[in-house]
Amino acid sequence: MLSSRLSRLPKYLFAEIDEAKNEAMRSGIDVIDLSIGDPDLPTPRPIIDTLYEAALKPENHKYPSYAGMISFRKAISEWFERRFGVLFDPNSEIIALIGSKEGIAHIHWAYLEEGDISIVPDPGYPVYNNATILTGATPYKVPLREENNFFIDFDTIPEDVKQKAKIIFINYPNNPTSAGASYENLEKVVWFAKKYNIILCSDLAYSEIYEDEKPLSIFNIPGAKDVAIEFHSLSKTFNMTGWRVGFAVGNKNLINGLLAIKSNVDSGVFNAIQEAGIRALQPDMEKYTQETREIISRRKKFMTESLEKIGLKVYKSKYTFYIWVKNLEGHSSKDTAKKFLKEIGVVVTPGSGFGEAGEGYFRISLTAPDDRIKEASERIKKLFIS
Ligand code: PLP
Repeated sequence: MLSSRLSRLPKYLFAEIDEAKNEAMRSGIDVIDLSIGDPDLPTPRPIIDTLYEAALKPENHKYPSYAGMISFRKAISEWFERRFGVLFDPNSEIIALIGSKEGIAHIHWAYLEEGDISIVPDPGYPVYNNATILTGATPYKVPLREENNFFIDFDTIPEDVKQKAKIIFINYPNNPTSAGASYENLEKVVWFAKKYNIILCSDLAYSEIYEDEKPLSIFNIPGAKDVAIEFHSLSKTFNMTGWRVGFAVGNKNLINGLLAIKSNVDSGVFNAIQEAGIRALQPDMEKYTQETREIISRRKKFMTESLEKIGLKVYKSKYTFYIWVKNLEGHSSKDTAKKFLKEIGVVVTPGSGFGEAGEGYFRISLTAPDDRIKEASERIKKLFIS
């Protein structure tokens, strides 16, 4: 029998979507999948070439170190200083991750006891909520509302939750809403975490997917290092979702806590992938990321305009490759997604799958080739005309 911990988990959102999608495909529908945030663009060639060379080296065939190769951690430190102007000690303030999801899940194991509370954004990336449940702690879901630009309204959190909470997760640029955070927003959350002695976890998986203004790190806020850890990913920046590589930076003790868990459950990232990661973080790779940004920006403009033309309401943002759209009139977000799949073969993600406060919206991921995005917009148009 499965453990009670597992039975408390909601069904994993994308497993449910996959089932419906596969059923539609079996019935012969030409499905366009705009649900999961998995880039259609290839990993830049220099990264692949580096992996090939690195995979040939016998020393890379051994177990990697738990914290990651020091050369990888140095490359992270240099990248971080160039990108955010913040310094981290590669020896004690940086850790390699098997994708950021792994670190995001494991930080909960390092700091939560049964009965504890963690504050998780609703709607939000499901791992914050589900990893909390797996530890036996309880998530307090704080709703993100459009009128606050999908930032947390701290006044709505009850005082006893604030006093008891051990962890708070934030994620800007945000999945699923695509919202960004201002300096003042981030200042507020650092102030909050310090006041209530809460571990501040910032998820910056989409830091490089923006149109003009570069997103900030939580460490751009003075004093954040006292309370925070930040999760980064090579997945979306370099179209490397399948490679499973990311990293965390931040407070020494928090990095150590994560390392303590990880050294008991995994054995690090394949050294050859870390060498490829070093290549990815070099300054000359910026041109590839810039190209990705331009492609996403073009797609976003096209899809936003075509949705608005037929009267759908889109939340305007210049971050991430997602579009957050209000439901079809008179439909819940699940019904909207079902209608899209059944009637026009387009898979979108119902907002309610990211939490109750996501009801009212659905998410479109712009991670399909241009011609498929164009085809999807034509089909959506037809759905409206009919
Ligand atoms: N954080 C957010 C908000 C995400 O949307 C994702 C993936 O979709 C991740 C983290 C995990 O990314 P990865 O494990 O590939 O680094």
